Amino acid sequence: MTAEREPIHEPTLPVIDEETAWVHEAAGRFEHTGAEALLEWALDRFHPKMAISAAGGVDGMAILDMAWRINPDVRVFTLDTGRLPVETYGLFEEIREKYGIAVEFEYPETAAVSELVTAEGPNLMYLSVDLRIACCEIRKVEPLRRKLRTLDAWVAGLRREQWASRRNVAKVELDTDHGGIVKLNPLADWTADEVWDYVRKNEVPYHELFDHGYSSIGCSPCTRPVDPGESERAGRWWWEENTNKECGIHCSVQLMGSKSDGEKAAAGEGASA
Ligand code: SF4
Repeated sequence: MTAEREPIHEPTLPVIDEETAWVHEAAGRFEHTGAEALLEWALDRFHPKMAISAAGGVDGMAILDMAWRINPDVRVFTLDTGRLPVETYGLFEEIREKYGIAVEFEYPETAAVSELVTAEGPNLMYLSVDLRIACCEIRKVEPLRRKLRTLDAWVAGLRREQWASRRNVAKVELDTDHGGIVKLNPLADWTADEVWDYVRKNEVPYHELFDHGYSSIGCSPCTRPVDPGESERAGRWWWEENTNKECGIHCSVQLMGSKSDGEKAAAGEGASA
């Protein structure tokens, strides 16, 4: 069993304004630099209290590859919801083989999953948005919260062009949804084509389902292939209308919309931009 790592960062310190200013300064400094420069700085500043979040998406794979070239000991974690497509596990095996990275698997609380599924059935996500969000909360949001309590910084593959709720993400943010740790989005200003160019040029392994019409990878019951012309995240929770195509790990989910840290800042709600 792995010993619990204590964070060097203390989210409850009363220096939040200073920290916010520091993060804003870093966001400005790295806004027009390459993703590698941001990762190099972040690895130097936060490793080993920093980890990349990977769920099988091509963005996370590009980041993993870049970071590994800078520091082969880079940490990577994933949230195993118990409903992932089998191809996702194949990709994580490839990561072990090619990079020698032991991806850290995080799991939901068994009792919470059992209680929800026993009461509502295994395919409860199709019954109502509330139940879908409850499933995401138990299988993704809570395990992520638990993981991030052990870290000072985490890295995500969010890009501004992916969806409306992501249009204001900054490259360096204070993640107020997770105790004020630092969140890095090195590909915030990349396009999907640029990510794929990087992956092909550097022979980065990618998820098999991308060759079968998928443009975003998530849980098996909640992700479908997209048609030509559909947006990147159209295949996620495709049966829902007027929701934000988010599960709550990158923002606080509300039924009719969510806000990134950048949007909260723009709205004067105290988060960083
Ligand atoms: S994406 Fe679907 S299966 Fe996965 S946690 Fe959310 S509702 Fe549950």
